[in-house]
Amino acid sequence: MFIRQLQEPIASLPGVGKSARLGYDALGIRTQGDVLLLSPRSWEDRSIIVPLGSVARNTGENTVVNTFVQVLSQSWFGGRTRGKRTLKVIVRDISGNGDGRLSLLCFGRDFLEKVLVTGRTFYVYAQAAYHMTELQSSQFEVIPMRDDGSPPAEFGAVLPIYPLSGSLSQRIIRRDVAAVLAARSFDDELPPSLMDAYALLPTDRAIRMWHQPSSLEDVKKARQTLAFTELFYLQLVTRRRAVRTDSSTLKSPGEITGSEKRFISLLPFSLTADQETVLKEIRMDLDSSSPMNRMLQGDVGSGKTLVAWISALHVLSHGGQVAFMAPTELLARQHAENAARLLAPAGVRLAFLTGSVKGKERKLILDNLKAGNIDVIIGTHALFSKEVEFRRLRFVIIDEQHRFGVGQRLALMDKAATPDVLLMTATPIPRTLALTVFGDLNVSTIHTMPPGRLPVITHLVSDASRERMYKAVGIEFFRGHQGYFVYPRIDDSGTSDIRDVTNMFEYLSTRVYPGIPSALLHSRIPEQEKMDILERFRRKELMYLVSTSVVEVGIDIPEATCMVVEHADHFGLSALHQLRGRVGRGTLQSYCFLVYGEPLSDDARQRLLVLRESTDGFRIAEQDLLIRGPGEMTGTRQSGFLRLQFADLTTDVEIIVVARKEADAVLQADPAFLSLSHSVIRDVLMHAPPFPEDVIDAS
Ligand code: ADP
Ligand code: MG
Repeated sequence: MFIRQLQEPIASLPGVGKSARLGYDALGIRTQGDVLLLSPRSWEDRSIIVPLGSVARNTGENTVVNTFVQVLSQSWFGGRTRGKRTLKVIVRDISGNGDGRLSLLCFGRDFLEKVLVTGRTFYVYAQAAYHMTELQSSQFEVIPMRDDGSPPAEFGAVLPIYPLSGSLSQRIIRRDVAAVLAARSFDDELPPSLMDAYALLPTDRAIRMWHQPSSLEDVKKARQTLAFTELFYLQLVTRRRAVRTDSSTLKSPGEITGSEKRFISLLPFSLTADQETVLKEIRMDLDSSSPMNRMLQGDVGSGKTLVAWISALHVLSHGGQVAFMAPTELLARQHAENAARLLAPAGVRLAFLTGSVKGKERKLILDNLKAGNIDVIIGTHALFSKEVEFRRLRFVIIDEQHRFGVGQRLALMDKAATPDVLLMTATPIPRTLALTVFGDLNVSTIHTMPPGRLPVITHLVSDASRERMYKAVGIEFFRGHQGYFVYPRIDDSGTSDIRDVTNMFEYLSTRVYPGIPSALLHSRIPEQEKMDILERFRRKELMYLVSTSVVEVGIDIPEATCMVVEHADHFGLSALHQLRGRVGRGTLQSYCFLVYGEPLSDDARQRLLVLRESTDGFRIAEQDLLIRGPGEMTGTRQSGFLRLQFADLTTDVEIIVVARKEADAVLQADPAFLSLSHSVIRDVLMHAPPFPEDVIDAS
């Protein structure tokens, strides 16, 4: 059996009750196989003695100790009554590595009085630090030594530390992982030749060593195998594409068609040189006999969407259907409205489809799509749920591609044998990764903005200078320009001192800008109402929006000149850049105010400075990676391009390259995996695909 074939629900394990199940649910774990695919965040090395004497004096820094101790004494401090006072237990090192002493401060753990009895011996794992001359710890684990004096099982191991949720604890997850591992064994997922060539472990061995290693070296080896396997299949799936034959009959590939020319000539401006160039690149791809897989990158407002519509016309002239997918309903609607304005006059038949389109209307759209009576359909990922069928889908455009997972992308490519795919992004991924992770992805870049745009001026505003900022923004309103106020939260959850939209809307509209029309916008407001608000904003019936980061992507209002982001230090660099991209979209001078509270962490300060100094999205994306570093790739994993369990896109470039080479070799020699040595690939893809094709639920 393959790991992913183990579909028994996690709740069928002994001891997994409702609350643990909820925790697992939040981590995306439903089956016993899933829990094995949960990667530890880190490992605690308890395999070697780290005696008390090894902690450096006078630094005050927490250091891990891992040793054996004997209890010397107990005392109480900080209050007379039970409940107020705290137990303090002094122990000495008996590991044979010097006679260090440690004070265990047992906050809220009075029960330890009966456990840590004078004279008894324990195994201790603790975070300890010197306070003056005393070594102290309040975060520690104590386990009695065995009767014969030997250490308990917890010593000597390397323990995985998992991400937690709800009532889950490390203990529970380790228990459940152990139960699954004990009851099963797993088949290899790689052809034997590859395992030999790269000295990889059998899958069963690797997954055991990953969760229950006996050294950090084990962890490394296990990861090598698991990451290789994951990347190998990723490459196989993304690079496995049939060659298309039907369009090779075109007489002059790459040639602009009449309808494109007409459309361009009717625009109130001329295309930038970069737009012309990328349009040509895209046309060449569209007319070539192999399917396009191209990423169009360009900063927010550089004119990517327009390029997408013009390329759509190219496909329509050749008789294909086009799907345009946006990451949110709001954006999809905005794109649909723009398309209606731009394309409908050219006779293009448009439709809009998201999860919220229901009943008769939905059925009508689905029928017409299937019949080929719709040329361009615009929507969210609901476009690619199972029930949606196309007559001749030829071209798929994906806006803000970084918001979609690979699984979703694969599912959509399934709708047509081999559609051309154009991914658009304002948050580019580093080129090496683009090339390696996405297989044969080509990249087109729009470097320059349309003429007449002024770079947005960015001010960092400390809480104390807030009044001046309000005034500056007020002057813009007075000039008839509009603005956004963005906060990280919808409402005050009571505990934090984070400003939220609900309260700030109240404050801004009654105290700061009384009489100036405005509206509140956040994700809990019904779609239709959101659209009405945006429409009124567009018509300038509203002067400013108070919003959460729902305005982050794509909203296009040229007269808006002010973007105020509060608690700017709570947002990531790319998010801030996207927010700033909501202004400076016309010819007016625009301003971005990033408001922060003191004290500001070094990290956050650095981020904000990068934004003040640069308006170049590419530089910002690079800095983002640099500042966060590969260590924080989990962030990129979650929000980013891919959901990988084992591989790390920043550090595993070498494995990516090798896996890609091997995947290509297999695809070339045996594309249907018919040879005996490739049968394992066929089995894995059939029974336990690492990147399932129908991960899309219309949500
Ligand atoms: P992106 O998708 O890259 O964020 P858009 O295609 O939405 O950018 O373009 C942003 C704005 O710039 C739109 O209002 C669009 O009509 C306008 N625009 C696009 N290309 C040009 C151009 N060559 N000259 C002037 N304005 C342009
Ligand atoms: Mg856009």
